[in-house]
Amino acid sequence: MGARSGNNYLSSLKKLGAEIFLGGERVTDVTTHRAFRNCAHSLASLYDMQSEHPEAMTFRTDDGGRAGLSFQQPRTPEELRKRSRMMAAWANFSGGFMGRTPDYLNVSIAAMAAAHEFFADSDPRFGDNIQSYYRQARDHDWCATHTLVNPRASRAQGWAGNTDADLALRLVEKTRGGIVVSGCRMLATLAPMSEELLVFPSTVLKADAAAEPYALSFAINCNASGLRFICRDSYDLARSKFDAPLASRFEEMDCVVIFDNVLIPWERVFLCGDVARCNALYGATNAVVHMMHQVAVKNVAKSEFILGLAARIAQASDAMPLQHVRERLAEMITTTETMRACLRAAEADAVVDKWGVCVPARAPLDTARNLFPRLYPRMIEIIQLSSSSSLMATPQDADFANPAERGDIERYFKSADSDARDRVALYRLAADAATSAFAGRQVLYERFFFGDPIRMASALVDNTDLQPLIDRVKAFLARPD
Ligand SMILES: Cc1cc2nc3c(=O)[nH]c(=O)nc-3n(C[C@H](O)[C@H](O)[C@H](O)COP(=O)(O)OP(=O)(O)OC[C@H]3O[C@@H](n4cnc5c(N)ncnc54)[C@H](O)[C@@H]3O)c2cc1C
Repeated sequence: MGARSGNNYLSSLKKLGAEIFLGGERVTDVTTHRAFRNCAHSLASLYDMQSEHPEAMTFRTDDGGRAGLSFQQPRTPEELRKRSRMMAAWANFSGGFMGRTPDYLNVSIAAMAAAHEFFADSDPRFGDNIQSYYRQARDHDWCATHTLVNPRASRAQGWAGNTDADLALRLVEKTRGGIVVSGCRMLATLAPMSEELLVFPSTVLKADAAAEPYALSFAINCNASGLRFICRDSYDLARSKFDAPLASRFEEMDCVVIFDNVLIPWERVFLCGDVARCNALYGATNAVVHMMHQVAVKNVAKSEFILGLAARIAQASDAMPLQHVRERLAEMITTTETMRACLRAAEADAVVDKWGVCVPARAPLDTARNLFPRLYPRMIEIIQLSSSSSLMATPQDADFANPAERGDIERYFKSADSDARDRVALYRLAADAATSAFAGRQVLYERFFFGDPIRMASALVDNTDLQPLIDRVKAFLARPD
């Protein structure tokens, strides 16, 4: 089939019937349920963009079909930049507020399939499996979620790579048909809107035999028997687009995933029991770099959107000449330019890796992923500082419709350059970005979704060759003059 339409996605999701629980109830149809339908329709719009712009957003596959460009294994810097522009179009659709547009995982599946020998070295079947899974995912244009982290009852566990044996996802048995797994993983963002669940190793397994049952990498349909998803509260409260401009469109949902003796067919197993390879998977296949690339594209889109919002707030309230407002805007411009610079440097210094894939330079992307969790909360703080009580002076759509209030609202809620409705719309957007439950989750997401910030910092140290710099300091200290 190749690049799909929005309707194809929605009808597939409607039929899926995954076991999703929200607020004590089993959700039967996510395409109509108030908590999920809006995000599902946003995703459908993304798929439709591919059909509307086939040259810019799809590529021709070996068999002559057209697939979504995020599945391409770029071979040249130009192909990489084209894929980047396609990802930017998807990110700009939501102002960067959808972190899990399907390209996030598509680029990683593409990278892993190109590195099939890495899996084949563990078991020849696994090399074939990852390639065939990639082709299926690409040709069906599947929407996937993923889950990496095992839950921990005690923080004393885990730091050194221990797993909590009763909680963590683990191998129960190997059968002729596949492997049977049980346990729990957290989190899976977008799970209710996904058709596929990718389970990759948490890259902190202790290098000993006791860790082998936890060393797993596989893919499974979200409606597999024994698989259950437990949702947090939904932040899409079925409000109008005016009342909740972001939450009513881009609420991705996060779920804890329960595996109750789930059978994973052999053809969907990519690694099993190979601790060293599980720990190395993301780095060795460069999947993590391609994911960081998608995230950097999203960070640029998000920084630009929040900067635009702050600038519009300053403009609408005649605050642009004020020095402290300018200082804050300059700080946000610095953030945005830093994200753009990291993305551009990564693409400019892209090289073809040993798997034949053009991979962006890792260091600028690692820089971006370590900076953004600190810079994003500050951008949101600036929206709060610049807006203050205006974030509370936000009557709803229904208030505008009530003749008993409308006159007051139209008189007292206008701003320097706009009428009351436009001013309230602006601050409702600012509130949804900076103070709503949706906004709070966005900040938490940016802080943690790519992993524990301390471990990400540690990875940056590991991946940076510090010795030449140390040598330079030593040489300076040894200077006779
Ligand atoms: C909104 C959101 C969406 C997410 N979506 C996904 C997803 O789709 N897929 C997925 O796989 N994961 C997802 N994640 C999970 C993410 O991968 C984890 O949050 C991240 O890896 C951190 O793990 P943790 O939450 O268990 O935090 P912890 O590991 O508990 O860390 C929390 C803090 O405690 C510190 N800490 C922990 N243990 C110790 C210790 N022993 N000593 C000192 N300090 C310690 C850490 O450094 C950190 O600052 C998501 C997370 C969020 C918040």
